[in-house]
Amino acid sequence: MNFIETRGNDGQRPASISFSEAILSPMSSFGGIYVPESLPNLGEGFLRDHLHCHYKDLARDLLAAFEPDIAPEVIDQALATYDAFDDPANPVPVVRVRDDLYVSELYHGPTRAFKDMALQPFGVVLSDLAQRRGEHYLIMAATSGDTGPAALDTFRERANVRVVCLYPDGGTSDVQRLQMVTESGSNLKVVGIRGDFDDAQTALKTLLGSAAFRDLLRQKNTLLSAANSVNFGRIIFQTIYHVHSYLELVRQGAIALGEKVYLNVPSGNFGNALGGYYAMKMGLPVEKILIASNQNNVLTDWIHTGRYDLRDRAVVGTSSPAMDILKSSNVERILWDLFGTERTRSLMRQLDEDRHYALSTEELTRLQGIFSADFCTDAEGQAYIKQAFAEGYLMDPHTATCFKAHASCRDKPLKDIVYSTAEWTKFSPTIALALTGQMPEQEQQALAAIAEQAGQQIPAAIAGLFDRPVVQKTLIDKTEVEAEILSLFD
Ligand SMILES: *Cc1c(COP(=O)(O)O)cnc(C)c1O
Repeated sequence: MNFIETRGNDGQRPASISFSEAILSPMSSFGGIYVPESLPNLGEGFLRDHLHCHYKDLARDLLAAFEPDIAPEVIDQALATYDAFDDPANPVPVVRVRDDLYVSELYHGPTRAFKDMALQPFGVVLSDLAQRRGEHYLIMAATSGDTGPAALDTFRERANVRVVCLYPDGGTSDVQRLQMVTESGSNLKVVGIRGDFDDAQTALKTLLGSAAFRDLLRQKNTLLSAANSVNFGRIIFQTIYHVHSYLELVRQGAIALGEKVYLNVPSGNFGNALGGYYAMKMGLPVEKILIASNQNNVLTDWIHTGRYDLRDRAVVGTSSPAMDILKSSNVERILWDLFGTERTRSLMRQLDEDRHYALSTEELTRLQGIFSADFCTDAEGQAYIKQAFAEGYLMDPHTATCFKAHASCRDKPLKDIVYSTAEWTKFSPTIALALTGQMPEQEQQALAAIAEQAGQQIPAAIAGLFDRPVVQKTLIDKTEVEAEILSLFD
């Protein structure tokens, strides 16, 4: 399978590239991104044939349908990273909360958030490709909390890849900060920025777009890649768990094979939702994909009105920070798939230049045939956390946004698969507030109090963080980022 560009080809780059090339250099002509030229069709038999198969076997066969140019033994090594999840026999448990609401828990990996689902295997694949080509890559990430720890964990001591992770000092939870600053891998660098997430992100984007910076890196025998969800190498691993979750519902007797379900996704950069969309296009019986947002509800407006409008909007800080995003990068892949290259280039140019675009009535109708959307305020989210806890289910604030979409977006009495993207341990202060009405002073107290109240263990990966030495102590101004990164290569 080959990959082509969402905004068309500029004549400088190849018009179509392989999967491994799309992983190594994910940026394409005119600021676009790569998409698979076509998607595999799983056919009716695929689901039946995989009804009783292990997650890794399902994954192997699904990936094979994409015909990636990756050696089978590398795919096996990549999928072996799921063996380190809580239950190697089932890395993604699907839990019944109500008759019509099942939660697919995507957070049972090493950093306790859903980013592990794709980044764990992705790290193996990227490092292997770099070694085979004798190339060295730098991955830069700006993080408000989940991508950073997951990227650091997956690349720790992997050959031919270095990671620099920028985070806003004071802008993450204790757990998230400790997950990064206690990382001692020799190829990992964590840099605190005096400023907010936007400062970290802007510093990163400036460097990513700088030809001069690329040249300086090249002199140091290093190329730039990306580990965010514009990289298709992440998206491909995010189609698998949608198929798995569906099959789990069949196995649990909740649905018959072929029956349609809703997929309900807490969305930021739309990578998780895009994985669901691809699974649906490949033949998974999905009625609609529900897009849950927080107060940064640009996606809700887009799906309700066809207008994607960034004017008069600034990011609002919420208690579901991984979804505090306005420019949702994978929406572009949906535009391309529904409306084609020319239209995507025109719409994305309008967004870049005028900060808004509007779909036509016909286009909006198509979009609404696939997606429904709603957003959830922090106060509503807390009420959902409290209510679910009373029903016996402990969830994090990102997952809670889906409970609003569950209540408002379904027009048929079908089962709803809610995707849970973070373990409660990553957002314990908000959960403590939801359950008790009070914000605990210390995050460690919140963890202990919830564990006690819920009768749950704090996983060792989280509990142990507070005793680990802080080894990453760099704290700089945003203007110093470039020099700091280049100094790593001296
Ligand atoms: C990244 C993330 C999301 C958003 O996922 P997208 O694929 O970017 O839409 C939601 N919740 C958590 C906890 C995350 O880490």
